[in-house]
Amino acid sequence: MKLDLSCPTCGSDDIMKNGTTRRGKQNHKCRDCGRQFVEDPQWKPKDKDIIALVNLLLLEKIPLAGIVKTVGVSASWLQNYVNKYYQACRAASRSSAKSQREADGSNG
Ligand SMILES: [Zn+2]
Repeated sequence: MKLDLSCPTCGSDDIMKNGTTRRGKQNHKCRDCGRQFVEDPQWKPKDKDIIALVNLLLLEKIPLAGIVKTVGVSASWLQNYVNKYYQACRAASRSSAKSQREADGSNG
């Protein structure tokens, strides 16, 4: 069963329970980066508005440090998000390049 939590370091949702702290709080561990953390009420999943804003700023080629300040996300979360974002962009541009070549052929 997946826990409804994200890793505060890498943003992964592959989280497992890892016993409790001395204070009796549930402790968790990220399977991706090994980070251990206690569920933090201040840590909230990014909502759609935040994601939309980050996408917009990335399109405007705002430096990551600027996005961190503007949106208020953590630099590590943003770096992880950007990696996924550019992977998706590369996949999209590969398929559009293919359809452009087909269009050029019909014009020739
Ligand atoms: Zn992690």
